[in-house]
Amino acid sequence: MLDLAIVGGGPAGLTAGLYGTRGGLANVVMYEKGMPGGQITQSSEVENYPGVCKVVSGMELMECWPKQAMRFGLRHEMQEVVRVSRCEDIFLLTLDNGQTQKAKSVIIATGSTPKRAGFEGEEEFFGRGVSTCATCDGFFYKDKEVAVLGGGDTALEEALFLSKIAKRVYLIHRRDKFRAAPSTVQRVKSNPKIEFILNATVKKVYGDQMGVQGVIIQQNGQEIDLKVPGLFVFVGMQVNNEVIKQEDGSFLCEVNRWGEIVVDLRMQTSIPGLFGAGDVRSDASKQVVCAAGDGATAAISAINYLQARGEELKIC
Ligand SMILES: Cc1cc2nc3c(=O)[nH]c(=O)nc-3n(C[C@H](O)[C@H](O)[C@H](O)COP(=O)(O)OP(=O)(O)OC[C@H]3O[C@@H](n4cnc5c(N)ncnc54)[C@H](O)[C@@H]3O)c2cc1C
Repeated sequence: MLDLAIVGGGPAGLTAGLYGTRGGLANVVMYEKGMPGGQITQSSEVENYPGVCKVVSGMELMECWPKQAMRFGLRHEMQEVVRVSRCEDIFLLTLDNGQTQKAKSVIIATGSTPKRAGFEGEEEFFGRGVSTCATCDGFFYKDKEVAVLGGGDTALEEALFLSKIAKRVYLIHRRDKFRAAPSTVQRVKSNPKIEFILNATVKKVYGDQMGVQGVIIQQNGQEIDLKVPGLFVFVGMQVNNEVIKQEDGSFLCEVNRWGEIVVDLRMQTSIPGLFGAGDVRSDASKQVVCAAGDGATAAISAINYLQARGEELKIC
């Protein structure tokens, strides 16, 4: 039986692993279905992680995190956790290889994934011209024209990144004001390779077997046919809460109307011994530094919980 199981190996999960093992827990496993690092590894430019002076890619930022956490005994298992359920006072993790694992405490740090915008052709052309990752797919558009959809920090930062590769970047946004940080908006506005298409929405993408050939945009009641081979979509994030969904469709612990796990300031959920950390929890700022802070808090709370309750847990 594990003392602590961590689901997700992004900034929140890795920091929870570091604090949990360094704080004295002997038997801690972090389940991460892919490579540890989380969604920030898709970002080409991170300039707001404290203490890191130069602009680095998400991959560079996360390089040392797993190594540091594993130094104190954290084990990583490359498995997807299908479900976390409760059995008396302990937790049962169902893994995608069919096995189950018992744990005395659990931290859910499954993060979030980019939302779909919902236009026609988005699914059909996903991976063939429609993308949510400029770092992964930007190079395909070297010296070509490309479009970006969205008006937040991520959309603008990725438009800046793409402007270094592509010949021209069209930034499509449904308003004429941006939600991004003023300094980022300024950099985008002064970039001669980025052209704005404002108060506009994407109606559909079209193409053939080879991929996208163009984007139909609606602006002020008119349709624009933008002939570009790629569209990058950055319209917000959706929380990964599937893992706490039970067989009857209910959630293991309280979630809010967006499906985010409700936690208190100690990252404690409505179920004792179950904690939420990072993008998946309620009121998260959805930033690396905040996710890391949550991970540390959740691990400290798990240690306190086990010290207070450890011996008297009813075990099924
Ligand atoms: C393109 C982009 C640019 C960004 N730029 C910045 C920036 O400049 N600065 C900043 O601070 N933040 C930025 N962010 C946001 C930042 O990446 C997130 O806030 C942060 O990564 C959240 O960390 P997390 O650990 O909560 O979740 P995540 O990073 O999402 O990690 C969750 C991990 O859990 C794993 N997982 C999910 N479900 C399961 C399961 N059932 N079983 C096993 N593993 C599972 C996933 O594979 C993933 O690795 C950016 C995000 C994106 C996408």
